[in-house]
Amino acid sequence: RIILGIESSCDDSCASVVTSDKRILSSIVTRQDHSHTHGIHPLVAALNHHSNIPTTIASALAHANLTHTDIDAVAVTQGPGMNSSLGVGLTAAKTLAALLDKPIIYVHHMQAHALTPLLTEQIPPRFPFLTLLVSGGHTLLVLARGVSEFQILATTTDDSIGDAFDKVARDLAIPWAHAPGAALESFCAQSSDAAQPDALSFPVPQKGKTSFSYSGLKSAVTRHVQHQGGPSAMTDEQRRQVAQAFQAAACAQLEDKLAMALRPTTATTGAASRRVPPRIDMGVDPLSIKSVVCSGGVAANAFLRTRLRTALDGIDRRDVQLSFPPLALCTDNAAMIAFAGHLLWHQRTNDYTRNSRAKWSVEDI
Ligand code: ATP
Ligand code: FE
Repeated sequence: RIILGIESSCDDSCASVVTSDKRILSSIVTRQDHSHTHGIHPLVAALNHHSNIPTTIASALAHANLTHTDIDAVAVTQGPGMNSSLGVGLTAAKTLAALLDKPIIYVHHMQAHALTPLLTEQIPPRFPFLTLLVSGGHTLLVLARGVSEFQILATTTDDSIGDAFDKVARDLAIPWAHAPGAALESFCAQSSDAAQPDALSFPVPQKGKTSFSYSGLKSAVTRHVQHQGGPSAMTDEQRRQVAQAFQAAACAQLEDKLAMALRPTTATTGAASRRVPPRIDMGVDPLSIKSVVCSGGVAANAFLRTRLRTALDGIDRRDVQLSFPPLALCTDNAAMIAFAGHLLWHQRTNDYTRNSRAKWSVEDI
């Protein structure tokens, strides 16, 4: 079976062809350049989708060496995201499916991010697994009980981690092309001999709590940079120290929550008075969870990848398999949408009237 996937929830226009035996025949991402504006303007993003979606879909079919008659269904992102952006991909998908008289499969964007390792891992994660969804719009710790059954264990009380990476990269005037967050990561990695590791640190908010928070960390960085007279008054090494301290504090929240969920309950405590570490109750025995999936744009971060592994080892959970999608499938793409379409084949429909859902919890799929 062959599914064409279409994704346009944010600013990337994406189309992909994936087979039911998990072969990605093509995955085209047409990016927009927002480096000269402060973030993404919804109207500009939508206009660019209008320009880019038709040729992106045509390239996906051409790269797969297929024509439109070869596809068995169209899968498309219905939400969450920006309505004006989602609508462009949806209209394209619905028109194609209606014309070809093929079924359409409506997909939840975060569900697709969470399920990506089932497409890419040699040994796919088994349900129930824990998933950290870290992206431009979300910071979630979720228990995936089944393909469409998700339970949110922790979310952010304010900004997302991806948003914080983007803001800090701008505060520090780190040049970027596609994603400020990715540029911040590379900037951190370019340490010189003069580097003093851990010379600076930011507090890790929400330690021991069942939620994330990134606005305080963002403001702490902004204040620090202002105090130094702005990025142009700082040396590269000073800016790098701030970037590294931010990255460490941002990732520490994820490590903390992961440990709270997965720490074995039967800790061998000699002294009864010893403080029991706070935990997140998942409703299942932590030891029954053998897989952790980390996906979404921020999962591309190599520092985060190492830190999560260390955190799992630190709570004696070497038995847990940690999966990250390959870099190109961490950020937005349509291969994850087409693949979700295969997993949701039973939900295919000839209803070409459904509209976008800008706000849509992963618990309400
Ligand atoms: P959502 O998936 O929540 O709807 P989105 O689709 O806009 O949001 P993604 O494309 O999944 O988000 O992720 C984009 C985010 O990932 C941006 O904030 C970007 O800066 C961040 N990001 C990308 N690469 C890295 C990296 N290497 N390190 C940290 N952050 C990164
Ligand atoms: Fe995304």
